[in-house]
Amino acid sequence: MTYGTDYHLHTVYSDGKREPEAYIEAALSLKLKEIGFSDHLNPSGGDLKWCMDHEKLPEYAEHILRLKREHKDIAVRLGLEVDYLPGREKETERIINSLPFDYIIGSVHYLGDETVDLGPEFYLGKDIDEIYENYFNLVCEAASTGFFDIMGHPDLVRIHRFRPEADITHLYGMMASAFAIHDVAFELNTNGRNKPLHDFYPDRKYLHLFAEQGVPVCVNSDGHFPERTGQYFSEAYDLLKRAGYREMAVFSGRERYMIPF
Ligand SMILES: [Zn+2]
Ligand SMILES: [Zn+2]
Repeated sequence: MTYGTDYHLHTVYSDGKREPEAYIEAALSLKLKEIGFSDHLNPSGGDLKWCMDHEKLPEYAEHILRLKREHKDIAVRLGLEVDYLPGREKETERIINSLPFDYIIGSVHYLGDETVDLGPEFYLGKDIDEIYENYFNLVCEAASTGFFDIMGHPDLVRIHRFRPEADITHLYGMMASAFAIHDVAFELNTNGRNKPLHDFYPDRKYLHLFAEQGVPVCVNSDGHFPERTGQYFSEAYDLLKRAGYREMAVFSGRERYMIPF
């Protein structure tokens, strides 16, 4: 049986719907071995509709660390999903070093001042090929900062089904190389299935490129409700196996360990 982990979950500390305890219950019923919390945080302190207020960060960490101590039946991990914002490196560094995190998920939601995921409006009247190129470049730049352990939903620009005209295999090749060079893992994020995209991130067609470069991977739900914990995971692990993966990344104290499927 697969050593099940889900490291990407959102609780009431950001835009998730329930307290952390409810997700642990869900994870226990799925017999997951590890569960990690990764509420949203914008280093600039903005976006309080979906991100944690910086002042809440110590309370969030204390809550998760208490659950970690209390649970002997499942490993509880303290994570955070941090926006990569060029120009905000100082704040980012301070935040990720301020608490004993097990891992940091680095995500690109912003291109310039606009978010790529909130609605399809962002894409209207724009050059989609250029958007893809800019997005992939920014994710690669994020990977190079050393701030992040896991790159979140690496091709989130697919969310609203606007497709580039050009063949973009080289963008995935570039991303896999950047992740390998900078020694970061990425997630196979199953939440895209619940979005207009109706599929996982990144595109299953290119998973083998990441496997060939030996980029460590983990499977995450990005759940905002306890019911989404571990959602579609057996399909995700099957996909990874078919792409050539034989092991997955787990994290503790920002150290990465590999576990066979
Ligand atoms: Zn995200
Ligand atoms: Zn998320």
